[in-house]
Amino acid sequence: MKKKQTHTYEFKAEVKQLLDILVHSLYTSREIFLRELISNASDALDKLRFESTRGTAVADKDLPLEIKIDFDEKKKLITVTDTGVGMTEDELIKNIGTIAKSGSAEFLKQLSEDKSDVNNIIGKFGVGFYSVFMVAEKVVIKTKSFNEDAPALEWVSDGLGSFEINPLAEKINRGTIIEIHLKEETKDYADKYRLETIIKKHSNFISFPIYLGVEKINTITALWREPKSNIKKEAYNEFYKFLTYDEEPMDTIHVSVDAPIQFNALMFIPKKNFDLFGYNREDYGLDLYVRRVLIQHKNKDLLPEYLSFVKGVVDSEDLPLNISRETLQENVIFHKIASSVTSQILSYLVKKAKDEPEKYREFWKEHGRIFKMGYSDFSNMEKFTQLLRFNSSFNEDTKQLVSLEEYASRMKEEQKEIFYAFGINREAVALDPHLEIFKKKGIEVLYLFDPVDEFVFNGVRKFKEFEFKSVDSVDIGKIEKFEDTVKEEDKFEKLDKKDEKHFDSLLASMKKTLGDRVTDVKVSSRLNESPACLVNPDDTMTASMQRLLRMTNKDMTVQKKLLEINKNHKLIRNLLKIFIQNTNDEYIANVTEQLFESALLLEGNLDDPHKLVNRLNKMLEQSSDWYTQVKNI
Ligand code: ADP
Ligand code: MG
Repeated sequence: MKKKQTHTYEFKAEVKQLLDILVHSLYTSREIFLRELISNASDALDKLRFESTRGTAVADKDLPLEIKIDFDEKKKLITVTDTGVGMTEDELIKNIGTIAKSGSAEFLKQLSEDKSDVNNIIGKFGVGFYSVFMVAEKVVIKTKSFNEDAPALEWVSDGLGSFEINPLAEKINRGTIIEIHLKEETKDYADKYRLETIIKKHSNFISFPIYLGVEKINTITALWREPKSNIKKEAYNEFYKFLTYDEEPMDTIHVSVDAPIQFNALMFIPKKNFDLFGYNREDYGLDLYVRRVLIQHKNKDLLPEYLSFVKGVVDSEDLPLNISRETLQENVIFHKIASSVTSQILSYLVKKAKDEPEKYREFWKEHGRIFKMGYSDFSNMEKFTQLLRFNSSFNEDTKQLVSLEEYASRMKEEQKEIFYAFGINREAVALDPHLEIFKKKGIEVLYLFDPVDEFVFNGVRKFKEFEFKSVDSVDIGKIEKFEDTVKEEDKFEKLDKKDEKHFDSLLASMKKTLGDRVTDVKVSSRLNESPACLVNPDDTMTASMQRLLRMTNKDMTVQKKLLEINKNHKLIRNLLKIFIQNTNDEYIANVTEQLFESALLLEGNLDDPHKLVNRLNKMLEQSSDWYTQVKNI
């Protein structure tokens, strides 16, 4: 039989780039290399345990599942040994030599921009192993796969450009030994106290024993199974840090459910929304344990996407140990656990919103955008709607928020709808002409600044018996009946009968000018300050929704609307005078066009501003003539 040759392989380009950054780095957080190697060892042990519980034959089946750390000061050497699944040659090449997970390009970009963050992000991108080259000048991996006839292999690299794989002459057990040959400047890591401190700090909750020499270092407690009263806040925080590499959590949710299905869950809401680079979309989920045995890291089906910011673990007695990730999908108990987890989180938030409104606002600020996506979770609609927050016309600034409950409690008697207005910010919404009548009547309007909010309302449909209504679609008859809260003296005298007739003709002439672009031109009862506005015919899409849809579909035409005219506006009264003089004065047509396009512009549905600007400039020019005449300039 021919002896196997040494094989030399080049690292993939992105790995080289990553290594280059790491090898030449002077990170203060270099110690995290050990956390990463221990975490890999733990993953390998999890995989092995998983294989044996499902009945796969594994090599050296009586070996204890554990992690061993040894060191030799003189040789500047640290070794990390595990009895996990090990690797075949193909796996070595595939897993260590390329960057498997997506997002690596983004990671490299981040890393080169903000070096201080390596500690927090390296593990999340599936590149943890390479961090060993922050401290090593050479790394040797000795490994033997759990497949019974797999050969022992040796992988060697200095982390510069290539790695070698050789058959290993010495006999080793199933699992992996990582030899870390330290650099001169990092040789101090080969020290008992130092290693012990690092393990305790970063790897205390690893669920396999970690030995340093012969001494077991970590405390293997399944914290989530302990009674709540026994657990100190520090322990929760430590566990959270272990789980996420983050600082402290915003909230800790520890639940223990016995009936109808038993499970424990320890969950956390981070202080910050992690989803900085958008990669968290893929990276969320809760770790699923069955009787303390990890079945799956970051199981996505335990949480709906809108709660994806929640981190933590779920452990159940009632699932079979040999359940596979595939069969989980069809398991009824699993689904019951998942829906209970969701409702536990929502109940927690409902309580928080009630008991600590200030803190709830912090939560909303950080996670509200993702949370809002829950508008299609019909089974939890009641809790979900209790948790929504909005800015409102009754608030003084954007910092304050109201719940639908608060809104409802302030509604006018007889008010049947919850009104909202959409705009890019508070200042913009406040100037929306459609709001004028609401101000006059003292009716509260919710302000929406996030395009998603409107989808939320469309999804939620109702709060209690009240429907949501956009201010530009509201049936004015339903509002007019309310008493004015702001009394204003009439600025203009009422038109006499003759002028009323002229006014009607003026509206007809405006309609003629605009033709098919509007459904009609009518006198308005909703306006106060503004001369005109566009109103949605009842039960059609709101202006902001249309704008949103038109952003994705350019061909969509703007829905025809009703142009409402404020009879008591100075501009309109002047227009009437001009009209009475000469019904065909071109000034009238110009103003009509201008009012129409301005209204379109306000709601974000004017496609081409050229005509508007052109006309405006001409009118400014004219008015400057008049101005200089009047002022005798
Ligand atoms: P990640 O752990 O996020 O996948 P790493 O860079 O830490 O990324 O590790 C890359 C891969 O190398 C692992 O996914 C695993 O397949 C393999 N690996 C690393 N260490 C071990 C080990 N001790 N035993 C078995 N496989 C390992
Ligand atoms: Mg890893």
